[in-house]
Amino acid sequence: MSQEINDQNCTHSCDTCGVDCPSRTAPQDLHVKLKEGCRVGKVYAVVSGKGGVGKSMVTSLLAAQTRLRGYNTAILDGDITGPSIPQAFGVHDKALGDGEGIFPRVTLSGIQMMSINLLLEHETDPVVWRGPVIGGAIKQFWTDVYWDDVDYMFVDMPPGTGDVPLTVFQSLPVDGIIVVTTPQELVGMIVEKAVNMAKLMHIPVVGLVENMSFFKCPDCGKEHSIFGESRLNDVAAKYNIPLVARLPIDPSLTRMMDEGKIEMAHAPWLDDLLNGLTNG
Ligand code: ADP
Repeated sequence: MSQEINDQNCTHSCDTCGVDCPSRTAPQDLHVKLKEGCRVGKVYAVVSGKGGVGKSMVTSLLAAQTRLRGYNTAILDGDITGPSIPQAFGVHDKALGDGEGIFPRVTLSGIQMMSINLLLEHETDPVVWRGPVIGGAIKQFWTDVYWDDVDYMFVDMPPGTGDVPLTVFQSLPVDGIIVVTTPQELVGMIVEKAVNMAKLMHIPVVGLVENMSFFKCPDCGKEHSIFGESRLNDVAAKYNIPLVARLPIDPSLTRMMDEGKIEMAHAPWLDDLLNGLTNG
């Protein structure tokens, strides 16, 4: 729709013009489109303040447990420089295309996935791209992949709050954000940064996961809060985050991730959070 511009200072080119006319100030919809015939229901982005806190593990567990509940589930691995989703599910075959699009790989239990590691010639090839190229690749994982009737998609986001996550939030129709933290990060500003980024993007933070929250002694069964009492509920209340989960440090989870068997994991700690996500 064309807008009439009355300001005589308007140069009719937003690059050179300083006038705040309607066409400049109207919010632009930058969302990219799925391929024709594809459907993705709800999209949840899993974020963390930095690498190594368990974001990919939580993404994998959320997807695996959602699939167990009978939903058509997908993972879009947006962690382009540190992709670990295919490894977690033991998927090593390349994704194939038909010249017009790419078919997602499907895990043993039926989760559709796309990751840069499914496209690289060698899984160990490093991705040394700059931000805009990485953002472009993630957009293509949305636009160029034949996502087949997906109820829930989990996006393993690039870590941090930089330009790449920003591009993803602007481009994909994300319904909610799930923040993964360690106990120490709950004391700092990580959650607030994520909440502020979400506010800017007008996307709600629906869940907060405290990973490595405690250790359950395999001998006596007692739970030890190694990093001190959990602040999860206080922090969730402070930022009005409705769903929470606490995950233990569990060597069997590390092993299942490493062996590509994360779909076998029993993860009752995520039940309440998943009830909220899948009923909402
Ligand atoms: P991120 O995606 O945040 O970089 P990952 O999910 O790849 O982090 O986790 C980093 C490492 O820590 C992986 O080897 C993973 O298996 C391990 N890990 C993460 N969370 C746990 C946990 N709760 N218990 C045991 N190992 C974990």
